[in-house]
Amino acid sequence: MHRIVLLGPPASGKGTQSDRISSLLNIPHLSTGNILRKEVENGSPIGLEAQKYLDRGAYVPDELILSMVQAWLSERPEGWLLDGFPRTKAQAEALQNLSGVDKPTLVLGLEVPKEALISRMEGRRECSSCGKTVSLKEGQEEICEDCGGNLVKRSDDVIDSFKVRYQNYEKLTLPLFDFYQEKGILERIDGTQAPDVVFEQIKQHLVSEQVHGEA
Ligand SMILES: [Zn+2]
Repeated sequence: MHRIVLLGPPASGKGTQSDRISSLLNIPHLSTGNILRKEVENGSPIGLEAQKYLDRGAYVPDELILSMVQAWLSERPEGWLLDGFPRTKAQAEALQNLSGVDKPTLVLGLEVPKEALISRMEGRRECSSCGKTVSLKEGQEEICEDCGGNLVKRSDDVIDSFKVRYQNYEKLTLPLFDFYQEKGILERIDGTQAPDVVFEQIKQHLVSEQVHGEA
């Protein structure tokens, strides 16, 4: 049984790894951003409440996020993968005590230094026609392979908003590494490596969790 939390800074490749883990283990993957959007679209009571905060660009309060997460998790006894939640220590503590929901069994912590993330972002280009993002290789022409459009550098705004998000991550989310370390379920992953290598490393931990769990 896998109940996994994936932690990592913004732009560290968490989304890619989540997709791979959830298809490998065949477990559902919760992105709080996605279910929040869905609740808002459906105009559910939670969605309407959340909308008020989103309209102001404010953080959606913990109680709202928690009731959404609790509803989602309690319907998935087969296991799950969380990405983007918990984001704060208060949320992590609440997750340990959610009614009808078992505790996480494994926390994968992607570690990528801020400087590496910034230089990764600076090497990234976006197609001005189809919007595809690519990492520019050395000597590569700045033309989209898919549609022939021009590849353009992301604006400074993108980097600036990343820096703000990283600061929040450092302040609010990074303390969760210690929180889960103390619970003995944290595995640190070197996220500076290529996505395939990162995934191989993650797989090792999933296999050893399986063996451990069955012993
Ligand atoms: Zn294109």
